[in-house]
Amino acid sequence: MLATLEKPNYRRAKSEASRLLGDFGIDFPPVDPVTIARNLGMKVVFVEFDREHDNISGFYDPAENSIYVNSEEFALRQTFTIAHELGHKILHEEWAKSADYKILYRDQLLADDDPHEKEANAFAANLLVPRSMLDLYWDKLSLSELSKLFAVSVPVIKNRLSFEYGI
Ligand SMILES: [Zn+2]
Repeated sequence: MLATLEKPNYRRAKSEASRLLGDFGIDFPPVDPVTIARNLGMKVVFVEFDREHDNISGFYDPAENSIYVNSEEFALRQTFTIAHELGHKILHEEWAKSADYKILYRDQLLADDDPHEKEANAFAANLLVPRSMLDLYWDKLSLSELSKLFAVSVPVIKNRLSFEYGI
């Protein structure tokens, strides 16, 4: 029986991301979700989707224990997609095996109302830009410097700063 998830559990998303960073001894940015996924025994496959599917950012295939990511998207976007799909693996493996699971399309990353998607986004944000690392740099570097250091887009940095420090 699949447990229903009505509200996103952000605390769990954050604690699972912290646990992974701790398990792998990652203390400084940039966090590379490809290395983490591969160290967990997953495959990360970069795909050139055909025309019909080129609006796909990526997806997680539990049967193959693999993450597929659109190789034609911006590198920083690919990084976030991989971290997001890794979140589904860590948080939602059973759900991902069900028919409810949705492929992550471009442009809906931060808009999807499904609690699983919100949790996967929170997981990705906390994995790539953890508060403990942000504390070291947030008031010393510009947005673009933070974006380079953490290897995430400026909008992701802005979201993290707004969430953690209310700025
Ligand atoms: Zn998703």
